[in-house]
Amino acid sequence: MSNSKATAMVFEKVGQPFSLTSFDFPKLNTGEILVRVVYATICTSDLHTFYGRRCSHTHSILGHEIIGSIIEIPKNGINDFYGDALKVGDKITWSVYAHNCNDELAKRGMPQKSKDLFKYGHEKINETYKLNGGFATHCHLKRGSTIFKIPKNLTPKEATPLNCTHATIAGAIRLAGDLKGKNVLVSGVGMLGLSACAMAKESGANVVFAMDVEEKRLQQSKRFGADLSLNAKEHLEVSLKIAKEFGGIDVIIETSGVPSAVENGIKMLNIGGICVLIGSVYSQRDISINAETIVRNLLTIKGLHNYIHEDLAKAIVFLSKNNTKYPFEDLVGKEFPIEQLDIAFDFADKQSCYRVGVQPNNIIS
Ligand SMILES: [Zn+2]
Repeated sequence: MSNSKATAMVFEKVGQPFSLTSFDFPKLNTGEILVRVVYATICTSDLHTFYGRRCSHTHSILGHEIIGSIIEIPKNGINDFYGDALKVGDKITWSVYAHNCNDELAKRGMPQKSKDLFKYGHEKINETYKLNGGFATHCHLKRGSTIFKIPKNLTPKEATPLNCTHATIAGAIRLAGDLKGKNVLVSGVGMLGLSACAMAKESGANVVFAMDVEEKRLQQSKRFGADLSLNAKEHLEVSLKIAKEFGGIDVIIETSGVPSAVENGIKMLNIGGICVLIGSVYSQRDISINAETIVRNLLTIKGLHNYIHEDLAKAIVFLSKNNTKYPFEDLVGKEFPIEQLDIAFDFADKQSCYRVGVQPNNIIS
């Protein structure tokens, strides 16, 4: 293979195999860099796109949980989040989106909602931007991406989900406020929930409750800092009774997005409780909440979609400090070379593990 060509598995149509396609390297504009993709993981939202459970642009390159090694930087250089100059060879992670920092919403602290947001792994391939996702040998980073060097103690399996899972949880905890001495319920213990259990525990939570319908997942949550598990199939009264024995629930981090789980969670909150919703990212029925309860019990309900740059910074610090304490590496249960991406997606969709890894550069000799 020429060293100025990239290869990608292009998503062309729902239900159709990916198409192995070759691209010339892009010409970099100001503020852009080119990376060799070191590792990518298949996020649940990639599965939703590939199997047509949500609308998406085609043709595109999926994959937004990506880490890479810089192979080209602009002539006038580029800095990471902390203002340190980046150089060729640096191993990096970056925000799942490139934003316009002059946009009004970005100025008001919501960069993830700025106009013309560019999201890696979601964009239609066009003349200028082709290498937009993780399931390719290379990725073209746009201006407005927030870049971080990956701490040397993190393995690719640990570091790759940082810019989606762990950063989103760091954002949820930011919205929940100080967790010291508080009882936290993590509703839904998939990848997001496990990260939430560990981060809540490390943020000083008193008791971390994990709630899910699957016993296997609840068992797993104990390895990630959950103190007690509640089976969501049980009647609400049963879970409430158990929670009350330990002082009830002060904070909920809701990752499942299931309307009944959101409703039941809010009913479990103590006076002054806060519920942070992050899982409700698919179309669903309205939820039913009693407004009088919210008023009388001084409850707060907040939503978070994606995250701000500081959340990714915090997630990196958290993981670098705690990667030996919690078995994050085990969550990438299997890995495939990029040419087997169809098999990898099939495997991931059967929920055989929390994440499936993809090694895009196996096909480069
Ligand atoms: Zn994701």
